[in-house]
Amino acid sequence: MRFYPASAAAALLGLLLAGCQGNSTNSTADAGSAGSSAAANDGISATVIGQHIKQLASDEFQGRKPFTVGETKTTEYLAAQFKQLGMQPGPDGSYFQQVPLVEINTTPAATMQISGKGQPLTLRYQQDFVAVTEREQPRIELNNSALVFAGYGVVAPDYQWNDYAGLDVKGKTVVVLINDPGFVVGDTTLFKGKAMTYYGRWTYKYEEAARQGAAGVIIVHDTRPASYPWSVVQSSWSGSQLFPQSDDKGASKCALEGWMTLDAAKRLMQNAGQNFDALQAAANKPGFRPVPLGLNLTTSLTTTTRRTASKNVVAMLPGSERPEEYILYSAHWDHLGIGPAVQGDSIYNGAVDNASGCAALLNIAQAFAQAKEKPKRSIVFLAVTGEEQGLLGSAYYAAHPLFPLNKTVADLNMDALADFGPMKDLTVVGYGQSELDDYATAAAKEQERYIVPDQTPEQGHFFRSDHFSLAHVGVPALYASGRLESRAKGKEFAREQNEAYEAQHYHQPSDEYSPDRDLGGMEQDARLLYRIGQRLAGETTFPQWKAGSEFKAIREKSLAEKPRT
Ligand SMILES: [Zn+2]
Repeated sequence: MRFYPASAAAALLGLLLAGCQGNSTNSTADAGSAGSSAAANDGISATVIGQHIKQLASDEFQGRKPFTVGETKTTEYLAAQFKQLGMQPGPDGSYFQQVPLVEINTTPAATMQISGKGQPLTLRYQQDFVAVTEREQPRIELNNSALVFAGYGVVAPDYQWNDYAGLDVKGKTVVVLINDPGFVVGDTTLFKGKAMTYYGRWTYKYEEAARQGAAGVIIVHDTRPASYPWSVVQSSWSGSQLFPQSDDKGASKCALEGWMTLDAAKRLMQNAGQNFDALQAAANKPGFRPVPLGLNLTTSLTTTTRRTASKNVVAMLPGSERPEEYILYSAHWDHLGIGPAVQGDSIYNGAVDNASGCAALLNIAQAFAQAKEKPKRSIVFLAVTGEEQGLLGSAYYAAHPLFPLNKTVADLNMDALADFGPMKDLTVVGYGQSELDDYATAAAKEQERYIVPDQTPEQGHFFRSDHFSLAHVGVPALYASGRLESRAKGKEFAREQNEAYEAQHYHQPSDEYSPDRDLGGMEQDARLLYRIGQRLAGETTFPQWKAGSEFKAIREKSLAEKPRT
């Protein structure tokens, strides 16, 4: 347990002031960057970023879970920092946007009982399955709910694919696979080949099963197609969950939403007289039809619920000439809070995820605040809540924008910046989607970096952070950071660092601040995004989505409408 005395804030203030005077210590991160002296004096530095991460990822902030002390400390810290930098509050005079959510703490029964053929099968909570509900009901019971294997659980007219075709699953429980058809068998002719589409995401699987009227939906966890280990599922799907408030109190959702291990799925299919591998192979072929397993599931969930509001933090620097046009910077402030202990540590500090993005957000605001040349367009800084629970804060902002969406030029999102030194690459998640790629390419060139598309599109990163909520309503969004090649130590080193983070630290208590980490890469990324924002703020252009992007039509429609907030 590490606590930071109040003097930390004083130390930070001292540093900010030092920063403002342009003698930040870390200009090396931008070897060869044009105007390196400008870079050196823009106030962006690994030191400032490190200080913010130290605070936000401290045990004192308790892993920054919404509705906890961690939320209060985090949102007040962010608002205070923005205020100190002279940033204005949102249009209603507040640095906070209330985000109404419902917290549901689900306690599943210790077992799921499977019966119907031969020996009954018992699955155990946490060991074999996890389960939650989005229904605001004190008790959920599934009694002898018929089990159906529904392949990938996808209904995709754009790919002539329907895993529910010909079977009514109302009241039944469907077992589905994660990711898109084709991925696990290496068939790149299906869907978008190696790149995951939204159909591959767990959120989509639950949404589609609910549309089909299923009582329960259970996703089979498999580390490669899921791109995270079972321990992440255990920690993310246990304890209280947050959901958007809905008028029907979640009644239109499946009563039970869960995951089971691959091993449990194999035992289940064997109990049904089926073979998991054969079923999975069939699910990866066009024309797959859902398979009733002839088994029934009995289990229950009890819940406590709380309806309240979490907070997005918003701050703005008005533009000097076209203040009614906005460049949006976003980063989620929330993380997993206090959860299942790992080696005695139960605080999920979230230093990389996403204290790093919040630190960069604050440092970029500092750079704009101290820049001699004021931006012509307005700059908006948005730290959102509920990202870990399904992009809740950014989805709420997209549905209740504080600034007109069709006057929002772009969203520049930061999430989990790399903490292993300056990078030679700039990896763009969703490369090819919009003209923002060109801005990223130019800014990277300034830092003698090259652009690469996301190297692991099968992990669906485009759908896994807050830029997706803005893209979903048509705002061109950029999600890019250095990830592939360390400037000093090359690609192999970077690959090892990424794999170590994913296997050991992603959504684990060990994602902690350490003074030993080289934050030079975060400084680079923050500066690059600052430069893109500066450029956009000085232009009159509205970068567009490229042909073939699923967001292009949404934007064109939005731009044609009269602005509304
Ligand atoms: Zn994150």
